[in-house]
Amino acid sequence: MSTPATPNSAATNAAKARAAQAPPPPPEPLAFPVADSHTHLDMQESSVADALTAAAAVGVTTVIQVGCDLERSRWAAETAAAWKSVWAAVALHPNEAPRLSAEGGQEALDEALAGIEKLAGLGQVLAVGETGLDYFRTGPEGIAAQQRSFRAHIELAKRLDKALVIHDREAHADVLRILDEEGAPERTVFHCYSGDAEMARLCADKGYFMSFAGNITFKNAQPLRDALAAAPPELLLVETDAPFLTPAPHRGRPNAPYLIPLTLRAMAATKGMDEERLARHVAANTARAFGY
Ligand SMILES: [Zn+2]
Ligand SMILES: [Zn+2]
Repeated sequence: MSTPATPNSAATNAAKARAAQAPPPPPEPLAFPVADSHTHLDMQESSVADALTAAAAVGVTTVIQVGCDLERSRWAAETAAAWKSVWAAVALHPNEAPRLSAEGGQEALDEALAGIEKLAGLGQVLAVGETGLDYFRTGPEGIAAQQRSFRAHIELAKRLDKALVIHDREAHADVLRILDEEGAPERTVFHCYSGDAEMARLCADKGYFMSFAGNITFKNAQPLRDALAAAPPELLLVETDAPFLTPAPHRGRPNAPYLIPLTLRAMAATKGMDEERLARHVAANTARAFGY
């Protein structure tokens, strides 16, 4: 059955399209406050002040702002200096490292790494990341630069005693191997965890934190829920990776830290845990992982 066309159907469609892009309504506040362990405020529509206010209103009282290149890492450090509830992570993203290296060779990559090193020494910068490997977006020609950059970030996190935030997309085996070869920092976080249950057990053995994002709520994410079920509550974090990965039922609309309760609730359901109990674990784990 199809709706007959009316003179104002174009206007109706435009209104529908706007509604689809409008920010989702705020969820019920959490029973216990937690942190958004990984967000990109610099890529979101609202101001930092509005994003933090909306987040705090639902019990998301801390956010880790993650920089993906030198300039945005500098912005992350500045934002963390300006706001009490914001901490920063700085790095060259696994897709940024090969881009730099393709443009300016090893020299350009080293120069940017030196800039990251300066920022990583700041007190409000608690982590080096997001770094790691992304074999989904970077082709074989970029892998050498990506791995070199990953190893440099691992070394930096250890030397400065910062947490390491890992982006691992379709590169599980190599990420785990390189961590073993280099020796993982004491506090290592897999952001937007995407491995299976077997890998979750392996990460648990190593004491790696696993941070779950809104994709845990997606219908087709049963393997991810199986991994979450296998992960110990003592190593779980929650994140938005906003503006990406908006949790159900708001897929396709913009994500932001105030939507964390939707993901945490889905995690609690998967774990068969009371929301407040899981939130207490997550709050303590995030503080332990990042050292605040
Ligand atoms: Zn990432
Ligand atoms: Zn990210």
